[in-house]
This record gives sequence, C-alpha cells and structure tokens, in this order.
Amino acid sequence: MQPLEQGAVIDLHTHTHHSDGTESPTELVHAARAAGVRVLALTDHDVSTGWAEADRAGAQVGVGVVPGIEVSCSHRGASVHLLAYLPDPDHEDLAAELERCRDSRRTRLSDMVDLLAADGYPVTHDEVREVAGAGATLGRPHLADVLVRNGVYPDRDRAFAGVLAASSPYYVSHHAPDPARATELVVAAGGVPVMAHPFAGRRGRVVAAEVLPAMVEAGLVGIEVDHRDHGTQERAEAARAAKRFGLLPTGSSDYHGQGKPNRLGENTTSPEVLASLLARGTGAHLLGDWG
Ligand code: AMP
Ligand code: ZN
Ligand code: FE
Ligand code: FE
Repeated sequence: MQPLEQGAVIDLHTHTHHSDGTESPTELVHAARAAGVRVLALTDHDVSTGWAEADRAGAQVGVGVVPGIEVSCSHRGASVHLLAYLPDPDHEDLAAELERCRDSRRTRLSDMVDLLAADGYPVTHDEVREVAGAGATLGRPHLADVLVRNGVYPDRDRAFAGVLAASSPYYVSHHAPDPARATELVVAAGGVPVMAHPFAGRRGRVVAAEVLPAMVEAGLVGIEVDHRDHGTQERAEAARAAKRFGLLPTGSSDYHGQGKPNRLGENTTSPEVLASLLARGTGAHLLGDWG
C-alpha cells in the first residue's frame, strides 16, 4: 500500500457485526472506500475477531486498516469506553479481561430479555441470538433490533430512549474493568490507549474528570475530541483535557452501519496524530506500508 497522501481522510473508530455494527468487515471497508476514507480503525466492542477479514479487504481496495478494540469499562456504575490500537489480542491478561466482559454481557442481555418478557414485551433469547449472529459481542443494540423488528419501537434510538435506557427498570449492568486498570492492560499488551467520547453526556453520567488522572498515570496516550456525541462545548472541554494531560486529540465517526446515523469520515484524525499513535503500538501489526 502507498504512503499516505496530503489530506488523507482518517477515521479511527468503527464497528461491524462482530459487535453491534450491522456490516461485515469487508462491507465496512468497502463503505469506507466509497466514503473516501483512506485509513480506518476497526474497533469492535471487546473483540478482535473482525481484524483479519478487514485487513484482507483493506489490502484489496487500498484502505489502511488499523486493528483496534473498544474496551468496555466502568467506573462507579458509569460506563467508560477505551479505544485500544494495535494491542496484542493474545496478551493473556487483556484477553482474559475481554473474555470475562463478553461473558458477562451475555448473562446481562439474557437477564434483560427475561425482565422484558416477564412484563409482556415481545422478545425471546432465540431472537436476540438470531439478530446478533454467532460469536458477536452482545449489546443493548441487539435487543433494540428485536424490539424494532417486533414493532415496539421504530428504531434503535427510540429503544435506547425507552426500555433500554440506563435509568430503565429493565437495565442490567455487566462486568467491566475500571478504566485505569484497562489502560494498564492495553499498555501491557503493546496497545495504544485512547479514551473514547469522554464527555458524551447523552450516554449517561460523565466521569472523565474523575477518571482521567488515573488513566493518564496508567499510560493513556490519546483522547477522542471530535465525535458526534460531543457538542461545541464538549469538544472544547476534551481539547482542554488533551492539552492539560499531554494527550493526542483524535476524531472519528463511531460508525455502526445501519445501526446509527453516524457516517464514515464525519469526524477525522490528522495524519500527524495517526503517525504518533502508530509509532507507539507494538502489540499487533499493520498490513502494508502506509503508516
Ligand atoms: P451496551 O454496551 O450493551 O450497554 O450498549 C451500548 C452501545 O449501544 C454503545 O456501543 C453504543 O454505540 C450503542 N448505543 C448507545 N445509544 C444508542 C442509540 N441511541 N442508538 C443506537 N445505538 C446506541
Ligand atoms: Zn457500539
Ligand atoms: Fe463507545
Ligand atoms: Fe464505539
């Protein structure tokens, strides 16, 4: 693959059906190419199973693929997401933590199905399994898809505003590491940790100010500044945090295919920041010579 040209579009946060996106890695890479994205990071929730397919598709169509994972974390009951670029997916402690998280996500979603079904909502375990597909990291979006399919809500967004909200009586939490511990694990696995959408208030309680010092201490490298769930004020706040803690500022779409309105390349990362991120990652390899 050729080195990056000036003005290359770089999008470092996307999902496929290996977690709660709606497309395969090949479809994602083709969509990225059609959207003019030159470098794409695949960051499925808590899983790296989509990397190989994305790599192959990227090499074929000339899209650089950065292998990543969006690690689910939690701090005093609040959800925090940590992007990890180029971690070794076989690093024992990281792999064990991710597996524990995926396991707990299965139990948790099953408990939510039971609670909803007991109150007469049309949803079954089989349907959730069917919409998610085998092996995917299970999440509330899969439950949302069943509720949409069965006519309870018109779309995922409405389901999240309804029975799937964190404040809903049907909400069940799952195991997730503290963000500082996850940062440490990602660093140990040779990965580059970047805090995702730190000030996205519509997702629930914002704990960035509380957790950032410990994450920085543990080796945090970057922070997502430009993201759809950040307004002007949140972007400014994230940029200030980047300056204060010496973190690299990133921007990305958090694309989920048809599962969300987010479009590929709607927010981007600069080539300089990408180069700095890639220079720090030692756990996984890039295909081709474009970084
Ligand atoms: P979970 O990790 O299972 O608790 O579910 C959270 C996931 O759902 C996150 O990855 C979000 O990308 C996704 N999500 C959150 N809010 C919405 C929404 N309003 N519409 C669609 N997906 C959402
Ligand atoms: Zn997601
Ligand atoms: Fe996220
Ligand atoms: Fe995401």
